[in-house]
Amino acid sequence: MSFATPPAIVSAVRPAFDKGKASGDLLFFPSEVRTHRDLGIDFQIRLCPALLEKPTLPTLHFDLDAAECEKKKRLDPFKAPYNPNLYVGELKDEEEGTEYVVLLNKYSVVEEHFLLITKEFQSQKSPLDPSDLVQAYQLLRAARKTGKHLFAFYNCGDQSGASQVHKHLQFLPTTDEDGPPIEQLAKAARIEKEDKPFALSGLPFANHVRRLALPSSATRAELEPALAQAFIELLDLCISTVRHATANSDAAEAGGGGGGLSYNVVLTLGHLYIFPRRREVHTLAVSGETLSVNALGFAGFLLVKSDAELQAVTAEGPTNVLKSVAWASVHDLQVGGGPEFDGDVA
Ligand code: AMP
Repeated sequence: MSFATPPAIVSAVRPAFDKGKASGDLLFFPSEVRTHRDLGIDFQIRLCPALLEKPTLPTLHFDLDAAECEKKKRLDPFKAPYNPNLYVGELKDEEEGTEYVVLLNKYSVVEEHFLLITKEFQSQKSPLDPSDLVQAYQLLRAARKTGKHLFAFYNCGDQSGASQVHKHLQFLPTTDEDGPPIEQLAKAARIEKEDKPFALSGLPFANHVRRLALPSSATRAELEPALAQAFIELLDLCISTVRHATANSDAAEAGGGGGGLSYNVVLTLGHLYIFPRRREVHTLAVSGETLSVNALGFAGFLLVKSDAELQAVTAEGPTNVLKSVAWASVHDLQVGGGPEFDGDVA
């Protein structure tokens, strides 16, 4: 097997997308984008009526028993042999030796949506490891060098909105060079210590962010400790947020009942974000319909299937939708420190 480089993968995405779509194996659902500003974020709400006709991919609940788990693994769409019409290439982490396959999203709403998948089965409940972070960052960096803007996201755990149990990070292009809508807020945040986690305090839910000041020439050996350290700090804060929340609410709902920790990760060249998750779906007040939210919602992109849903989301306010599926922030306690909270927070 010959492995590609991140720049080769980035330049193979567009031709692979065109081939996948032409073959009929990649299903592309046209949509329109409406912008809605809420608490300083220009949310992009994507209206995609075609999704009404598409059978919805059930999101997964990972607390499966062993037999169910084996069945899911057998039906795993991310294991070899790969569909040649969705295949982009393969990467190998030079240090850890972890191998990845890059596939296009079979059900795309945004062009060139691709997935970075571990070739060996790893669980979508497991945290990102240093090689995942390095590969993802190198793909973002390779795209930037060709004038493209990508960001990565990872939906981890039962309540995160993930639909597949096999570990996969996802990548989307943005037209805005700032990246996803949330990035404007993070860029504007004035923080005391550039190398410490901070929170976007204007948002009504827990969020943990680290600025990444990585020179474009940073080598793998420089990227790995910086990204791994940032991720561990944010994950620690995520755990402490959920621990605090569960002490004050129903432990089963908080993941204490077996679902485990759930969170969404967003990665841009400038920031790493973690959003701890309380539940997967938001129930719209007007209709009682449910909206599954994943990392994209927190990045500033929401997906709706009808005008009625669009009206409902704008009436409730996207940040209120996110608040209902997230945990309350305990940032002030985390900044204040104390035995319950480890780590240094800006
Ligand atoms: P998530 O729902 O966050 O777990 O992301 C999984 C993604 O994989 C979804 O966006 C699906 O559309 C996509 N997907 C599902 N089945 C396949 C497949 N056979 N090949 C490629 N992508 C797929």
